[in-house]
Amino acid sequence: ILEIKNLHKEYGENTVLKSINAQVEEGDVIAILGPSGTGKSTLLRELNMLEHPTSGAVIFDDQDITKASEAGLDKIRQDLGMVFQSFNLFPNMTVLENVKIALTKVKGISDSEATATARKFLEKVGVADKVDVYPASLSGGQQQRVAIARALAMNPKIMLFDEPTSALDPEMVGEVLKTMRELAQEGMTMLVVTHEMGFAREVASKIWFMSDGEMTAYDDPTGFFENPNSERAQNFLAKML
Ligand code: ATP
Ligand code: MG
Repeated sequence: ILEIKNLHKEYGENTVLKSINAQVEEGDVIAILGPSGTGKSTLLRELNMLEHPTSGAVIFDDQDITKASEAGLDKIRQDLGMVFQSFNLFPNMTVLENVKIALTKVKGISDSEATATARKFLEKVGVADKVDVYPASLSGGQQQRVAIARALAMNPKIMLFDEPTSALDPEMVGEVLKTMRELAQEGMTMLVVTHEMGFAREVASKIWFMSDGEMTAYDDPTGFFENPNSERAQNFLAKML
């Protein structure tokens, strides 16, 4: 469903991604792991062109999206839902409006249909009782679940998560991971940058380990955790587990 070809990124002198090659198949749940500053967020942001690569290609639905126009990217970003560490909800809109806005403005869906769709996904993530409140009155875990509902409402083909639980109080982490685990079980294709090793081990179908701008793909999480084949991966795991 997605192919990454020789993806390379430099910020000035700093080479952040060194010719990454990888494939994402439909239904894959890929945990992207690795030490801080190794290019995990940069990689994720290049998959929906929030960041443009210095060279290389990202093929999505048979199209090189690094060459897409701005109008084309609007469409592609609907298919690649993204959830950030910091929720990014609109503070001046209610929960329901937060989920509806892109449905009516970007997809051109009628107001009543958008309301129904938004309610359906808010119910799915377990915050249906909060539709009329503003984000500030929600817990972090609830805000993040609204952000997930907002992305899901667009009917994406792939969900990209960048450390979705890192900004949460410890007691909120579980509820967000549970929502993500349910999505994975339903067959959603997901790429998740995370430091939650339990989630990576139990839910992910593949591991991408990043270090120093290089990526090693493991088709079997157990293999990565029990028998990491590089010193960098061993050092990383020794710190995390
Ligand atoms: P973390 O685990 O801390 O989130 P990360 O693996 O997500 O780290 P990135 O955020 O992708 O790492 O950053 C990789 C490198 O790219 C870092 O050295 C960072 O300083 C640099 N970098 C990221 N964004 C920019 C930018 N907009 N301009 C310049 N350098 C950047
Ligand atoms: Mg990051």
